Amino acid sequence: MRRRTDGSSTDPTADGRTVGPRLRGRRIVIDPGHGGPDPGVRIAGVAEADLVWDLARRLEGRTTGAGMDALLTRCEHTCPTEAERAALAQGADADLLLSLHVEADPSMDAEGLATFHQPGSTAGETLAGYVRRELASRTGMLDRGTQPHAGLVPLAGVPTVRVEVGYLSNMGDRRRLLDPVFRDVVAEGVLVGIKRFYLQGEDDQPTGTFTFSDVLAREIGRNRPSPADDTPAHRR
Ligand SMILES: [Zn+2]
Repeated sequence: MRRRTDGSSTDPTADGRTVGPRLRGRRIVIDPGHGGPDPGVRIAGVAEADLVWDLARRLEGRTTGAGMDALLTRCEHTCPTEAERAALAQGADADLLLSLHVEADPSMDAEGLATFHQPGSTAGETLAGYVRRELASRTGMLDRGTQPHAGLVPLAGVPTVRVEVGYLSNMGDRRRLLDPVFRDVVAEGVLVGIKRFYLQGEDDQPTGTFTFSDVLAREIGRNRPSPADDTPAHRR
């Protein structure tokens, strides 16, 4: 049974819920931005809402494959409000909320990825940092850093991170975003960032080198990867 205290802390180790490095049983709410009547940024026929929906489904696959419980905040063609999305995460007793967006800028030179966290959330800032460093390392995109974002609804006990995965208005970023292989790399990088967040520094692999198989191996037992570990071990 999952328990929640008053939720005044966003430290994942301080609120009486699951602790330790394992992903199994943790609940992630994945929030693809926009949707339905709101396409987000749209350039030359490519809409942010569709791109982040695709990314969200890939991330859903990775996180459930690693034993997490994943929920999406919207369907393919709906657009809940930010408050509704946050309420879903709070009501679902989520362990974390991860929003996916892409950007556009009048200057075609603007490029790169950034992550954001709720103002004042130490856990959110830590998670945002891990996710950003994994993505920057894996994608070669310009690293625009991690910052607080006033638009992120404060949720007690639910570290919230928003990832802006590049600029549709930039040719290099756009080429990456349109490549399904790149979108897989992003999904894996986010998963590894989450895993590092729960490992809390207790791992020895350089940023960008941790694979999905490594994550599964760590779910089973530290430093004991074997071929059998490549199969999903957490089917419900
Ligand atoms: Zn957006």
